[in-house]
Amino acid sequence: MSRPKIVILGAGYGGLMTAKGLAKELNYNEAEITLVNQNSYHYFTTELHKPAAGTSHHDHARVSISSIINKRKVNFIQDRVTSIDIEKKTVHLDQHDPLAYDYLVVGLGSAPETFGIEGLLENAFFIRSINSVRMIREHMEYMFSRYQTEKKEELITIVVGGAGFTGIEYVGELVDRMPELCREYDIPLEKVRIVNIEAAPTVLPGFDQELVDYAVKYLESKGVEFKISTPIEKCTGESVIVKGGEEIRASTVVWTGGVRGNRLIEEAGIENMRGRVKVDQYLRAPGHDNIFVIGDSSLVINEEINRPYPPTAQISTQQGQYLGRSLVATLRGNELKTFQFDNKGTIASLGKKEAIGIVWGKKYYGWTASWLKRATDLRWLFLLGGVSLLLRKGRL
Ligand code: FAD
Repeated sequence: MSRPKIVILGAGYGGLMTAKGLAKELNYNEAEITLVNQNSYHYFTTELHKPAAGTSHHDHARVSISSIINKRKVNFIQDRVTSIDIEKKTVHLDQHDPLAYDYLVVGLGSAPETFGIEGLLENAFFIRSINSVRMIREHMEYMFSRYQTEKKEELITIVVGGAGFTGIEYVGELVDRMPELCREYDIPLEKVRIVNIEAAPTVLPGFDQELVDYAVKYLESKGVEFKISTPIEKCTGESVIVKGGEEIRASTVVWTGGVRGNRLIEEAGIENMRGRVKVDQYLRAPGHDNIFVIGDSSLVINEEINRPYPPTAQISTQQGQYLGRSLVATLRGNELKTFQFDNKGTIASLGKKEAIGIVWGKKYYGWTASWLKRATDLRWLFLLGGVSLLLRKGRL
């Protein structure tokens, strides 16, 4: 009898945890597990703001997939998914033959949401992959290198659109990077402008006010200019134009203002809201008992406030761990438990030595929060590859 085919799309936080859980629990003859990812490596999205600012090398934020999966149990295919045919239970790939599945796990992450702002998609940079952060860093450095010759202030002006977690973490890294970058290109530090623009009436909307105040005060003390309640209306490539008509000339514009689900989900005809699927308590797509959606592509409702949980690595990881266990239970005909998100808290870094956060209901800031943030990054590496990966990555 042929083994049931489980196909996992995306080796992000959710997809990798599913694959690792299945590989650990299932015997070889119980299922055929295939993991598809467009790169040969997994990147730590939660650390991408560092290479984007140039405070660490991008290689610190990635690990080869074949070095962390059990290759005897998981068949890894490096390729780009081009479409999902839910009628024929098949996934189409760019370079390989179509893949048939009995169970499909969609963990393809998110894509930038630009809310139709003119010119943003074409002219802004996005913190979303190893390649995108490499481009941001190199572009910014090239702009700085031109300053001495051209003396144009926009060359050393960086606009960050969005003051949510990603925007604030990136701004924190920029603040750390600037002294060294200015020394390298003989630019007085006070000439550099870092402008963080947010449409909502506050930085880090929805977060604890005391911690928000701490973050703003710290970043302002390092020269960051905040423009809140200020929607960006246009991005031209040389400037951004905000509501009211003010033009801020900047050669580097990085958009962190929103994410949406993967377009492949919309194209597949799975019920969705801007590419995200409101999954049931077993993480199944509506009307499809064999399609599971996890991570940033999924929407899980927080019943306490009747709103979706924000897309985070924390919930993606827990979904992946849960799904590994529940697929094993499905294959063995055991009773299924429902998915419950255990929210341990949130920490935002403000550079290497500063952070703010709430962990298990307690507020932290300064070096303690920064240390806790580091611990969460280490935990992820440990989950992926144990102590040997931590050592390999030089984190211990
Ligand atoms: P991802 O980790 O995004 O992985 C998706 C994978 O699918 C990628 O490997 C991608 O290459 C692959 N893929 C996509 N399309 C295709 C295709 N067509 N074919 C093949 N492969 C494809 N969350 C936290 O909990 N804590 C934090 O501190 C935190 N900090 C963050 C900082 C930054 C700068 C950013 C950008 C995000 C941060 N997040 C944080 C959010 C977190 O990173 C995401 O929620 C998380 O990465 C989502 O995981 P995922 O499994 O859905 O997808």
